Amino acid sequence: MVTEAAYPLPPVKKQLIVFDFDWSLADQDSDRWVHEALCPRLRRKMKSLKSSVQFTDLCAQLLVELHEVEGKSREEIEEAMRAMPFHPAMKRGVKNLKQHSSPATTLFLLSNSNTIYIDTILRHQGLAPGVFDEVVTNPASWSTEGCLQLSRRVPADAAKQHGCTVGCSPNMCKGEELEAFLARHGGFEAFDRIMYVGDGGNDYCPLLRMREGKDVAFVRRFRGLEKRIKEEGGVKCGIRWWAGAWEVETLMDESRGVLTDGEKA
Ligand SMILES: [Mg+2]
Ligand SMILES: [Zn+2]
Repeated sequence: MVTEAAYPLPPVKKQLIVFDFDWSLADQDSDRWVHEALCPRLRRKMKSLKSSVQFTDLCAQLLVELHEVEGKSREEIEEAMRAMPFHPAMKRGVKNLKQHSSPATTLFLLSNSNTIYIDTILRHQGLAPGVFDEVVTNPASWSTEGCLQLSRRVPADAAKQHGCTVGCSPNMCKGEELEAFLARHGGFEAFDRIMYVGDGGNDYCPLLRMREGKDVAFVRRFRGLEKRIKEEGGVKCGIRWWAGAWEVETLMDESRGVLTDGEKA
């Protein structure tokens, strides 16, 4: 039912790598981390309300409370973001992929976090500006008073909601966003290989759209995505498993033809 991608990955001329952010590119979850770092009470509140309030709306509401009730400033939130765990091997692997022109690699960040967290963290980690060709996530901005204002990628009052049938949250369907990205960049045919680095249940939908015998999903073990792949099936692209970011670095190296001596071959 699950097909492991052949080793080594075949040489290609043009590839796309798509990254989820929380627990994939970054070694933490930004929405939760901000409260864990600044206000455990709100972290507990998030946990208790998660099953009853749409998650982006809940995050937005808790950020208002973090500012208005707890008095946390823009500077404190930015400092918390800069302190969030980010694995050096992931940084190194991404930078190497970006620097080497063979194969030509397009980098796309597709996340349920938000523009402010991602921009703050990527800049701090030396991965912005200029590393990712596109970032698609929920929009956020600072109020003049320093409150972080977050909204859904697909607003609740938008006439056109996404049509996902496999369970993406109302704020965004990552499968539709992947297809829209491809439509903006020449279609599936423009890339010899698409790779997707993900860990969560919401990364399952885009994986269903990926191609058999060409594309590869780099799936983090022991998390929601592995569970959905195994329980719900239907993923046709090849799969490679990883647990630590150092293993994704190896996979990224392999995608540009750099193999680790003596292993697995
Ligand atoms: Mg994730
Ligand atoms: Zn979806």
